[in-house]
Amino acid sequence: MLRLGIDVGGTFIKAGVVDENYTILEKVSIPTGADQGFISVVNTIARTARLAAKKVGRPLEDFACIGFGIPGLINPKSGVVVLAPNLEGWKDVPFLTEIQKLLPVSVYAGNDANCAVVGETLAGAAKGCKDVVMLTLGTGVGGGVVCDGKLFTGGQGLGAELGHMVLSMDGNTCGCGMQGCIEAYCSVTAFVKQTKAAMAAYPKSLMHAYAKEAGEVDGRTAFECSKAGDLAAQTVVNTYCRYLANAIGSLVTIYRPETVLIGGGLSNQREYLMDKLNALLPKYTFASGSIGVPPVCRATLGNDAGTIGAAYLDIM
Ligand SMILES: [Zn+2]
Repeated sequence: MLRLGIDVGGTFIKAGVVDENYTILEKVSIPTGADQGFISVVNTIARTARLAAKKVGRPLEDFACIGFGIPGLINPKSGVVVLAPNLEGWKDVPFLTEIQKLLPVSVYAGNDANCAVVGETLAGAAKGCKDVVMLTLGTGVGGGVVCDGKLFTGGQGLGAELGHMVLSMDGNTCGCGMQGCIEAYCSVTAFVKQTKAAMAAYPKSLMHAYAKEAGEVDGRTAFECSKAGDLAAQTVVNTYCRYLANAIGSLVTIYRPETVLIGGGLSNQREYLMDKLNALLPKYTFASGSIGVPPVCRATLGNDAGTIGAAYLDIM
């Protein structure tokens, strides 16, 4: 049977029709209109679902279920979105109850980063693995854990917020209000800050010309200049990789996954980033000399991971 996976983003609602082989048959994307408030967005989400079904010529009643990836804290059991900073007014809102009123099949919801690890485990870079940890490096740092083939959801189903594990006591202030979170060191936002600080300290660095040509300093600036041999850029990248490997090492020590996946914008650095992380990981992982470390790999499905994962939340 077909399923629908819907990514509820701050800018766009993206729906995908997913088949039994985890293939996305059709996609639909509609602006979220987040400023219109909760009920209006719920209506837009239902409209997106109907549109996606129409695209494959089937009524929604024919679908096995519909799953939603939510950019925030959601309790999948009660269906209440506790907090979603990118969706205006979404604080303690009964999402699943309201959306169920508009849709004729069972609905499920999960955190968007959790949907991504489900998608990668079923159909992507971790296919065949039962224990997986994934970090998504974007504006923030999202994360998800699959344990023994099941999505780890923890108490109240609120999941694992890996990005807010503390990497450095009393360290850099995080967007969540705490200090020293992984997100405050390993997000693209943090990496750009690290890049800008190095540029200020090294006015002759190649990064200045690169950023000028690109129009801005972004996640690529330090990586591309590092590849070109710029010493300041190499220091930025190597320090960043030490933060990230340190964070991954702790996660490996806790969960002992078969593989660690890296998704999000910075994963586009592919082997250049993965090789460095794999080389550093033993140093930051307990008993690595005796039991080794799992490979750190790039997630392969991109945004489709969240769509496929949302569509299959019911079996995880
Ligand atoms: Zn935090």
